[in-house]
Amino acid sequence: MPQSLKSDAHEILSRFGVTATRYTDGSMDSFSPVTGEAVASVTPDTADSTATSIAKAHAAFLAWRTTPAPKRGELVRLFGEELRAAKDDLGRLVSIEAGKSPSEGAGEVQEMIDICDFAVGLSRQLYGLTIATERPGHRMMETWHPLGVVGVISAFNFPVAVWSWNTAIALVCGNSVVWKPSEKTPLTGLACQAILDRALKRFGDAPENLSQVVIGAADVGQALVDNPQVALVSATGSTRMGRIVGPRVAERFGRCILELGGNNAGIVTPSADLDMALRAVAFGAMGTAGQRCTTTRRLFVHADVYDDLVPRLKKAYASVSVGNPLTENVLVGPLIDKDAFDGMQSALSAAKNAGGTVHGGERLEVETDAAFYVKPAIVEMPSQTGPVVEETFAPILYVMRYTDLEEAIADHNAVAAGLSSAIFTTDLREMEQFLSAAGSDCGIANVNIGTSGAEIGGAFGGEKETGGGRESGSDAWKAYMRRATNTINYSRELPLAQGVVFDID
Ligand code: NAD
Repeated sequence: MPQSLKSDAHEILSRFGVTATRYTDGSMDSFSPVTGEAVASVTPDTADSTATSIAKAHAAFLAWRTTPAPKRGELVRLFGEELRAAKDDLGRLVSIEAGKSPSEGAGEVQEMIDICDFAVGLSRQLYGLTIATERPGHRMMETWHPLGVVGVISAFNFPVAVWSWNTAIALVCGNSVVWKPSEKTPLTGLACQAILDRALKRFGDAPENLSQVVIGAADVGQALVDNPQVALVSATGSTRMGRIVGPRVAERFGRCILELGGNNAGIVTPSADLDMALRAVAFGAMGTAGQRCTTTRRLFVHADVYDDLVPRLKKAYASVSVGNPLTENVLVGPLIDKDAFDGMQSALSAAKNAGGTVHGGERLEVETDAAFYVKPAIVEMPSQTGPVVEETFAPILYVMRYTDLEEAIADHNAVAAGLSSAIFTTDLREMEQFLSAAGSDCGIANVNIGTSGAEIGGAFGGEKETGGGRESGSDAWKAYMRRATNTINYSRELPLAQGVVFDID
């Protein structure tokens, strides 16, 4: 008799040292999408307790900001070690709470480990410029300083990686962190904090309350958003959420990283390696049951290869194994909940009304009727109309035929979101056109690799209604620090700006 997900989750949390009352005595249930069962009940924070956490985090920041950056990096190095030791347990908890397959759960934890490695190196590279000055006997430079409390709000679909992308960078930059995970995934939030606590204990002399987790829904997020002691709000989730969070943070002149919805597309040109395109599109569209921000949702296929590629794609869809992601050889797991299922069904009926032909999309009875499993859907559309222009967070791939690449790129860009994009081609001109200033308008533009996923070394994020934020690699760290331009006069003169003579003798 297999162990219940509930006892499995509880055993993992107890191995991490999370006190049982934190996940058994609360008023807010946490459900596993795998079976629909409640696996824990947690105690939500209030606006007051969140404000207390923020005040404590601010006190921690005041001490942490003067710790040398490479030493701060040492904490993140230890955190990476703890994550390596915790990988199997945390990956499994991700699978239980978010419905990911074991390899996806472990893959998410690996992203956490990778960002720690990146951040450790970064802790010795937080450098600014020395800039040529027009004044004799002067030196001008820029320096980067810690910013303050970083408030992280995250979505259910990457319950642990997004926090670590923010936290590893924030910590080496000299900041403290208060994290509000999705109300759908509080347990992984508690587990992550416990893992970081292990690293903090080994590190020894970090200030208390350097990183904290607050549990709850939008109201708790709002308490982070509106608090002037939160210098940076890094919010990942729907564009709907970003529309509220962005203006509220702006109103108090806070800083914001918005990582919002995507409506990602691929273009398959006549010269494409179709075997490669088939695999990349199938994985990009169906992986994680279409619940990645970078999921492939639209596909423009050239008329010359449409009748070759699309039937093969439909075949791949028909044969894909959907089921309990914790069992072997299952590629597509459940939707997160009933709302996600209802959203998918209404998008499919709107697509039919707009002239689309739907293949798949039916609900499958797997496990219990409290869990929502679906056959991934391919919808052949006459043009980019109806629900195609919006993100539906479910496995629906809209496929359209094109004849002119310039028009396909224009259609590709004619949606509100701008996260990830891909072209499949072996033609150098087509590739360069897609990557050029007149090409894809997304934050991520790929060639012969799908839209889904990203390496931590690059800056991650998107344009337009995706929010414009960047996190993770490259120089995304700059959003987590404040920049000062310093001018030093080592001469005996005081040349005034603009040649002004100001004689006060
Ligand atoms: P969601 O917007 O419902 O919730 C995301 C988080 O925002 C949750 O923690 C939620 O409690 C919080 N929240 C909601 N309203 C808020 C408010 N008014 N004030 C403060 N906090 C608030 O999103 P979801 O359903 O959890 O996740 C799916 C969405 O997230 C999709 O649109 C997906 O594309 C997007 N996403 C984007 C990225 C990215 O990097 N661009 C990554 C993952 C997910």
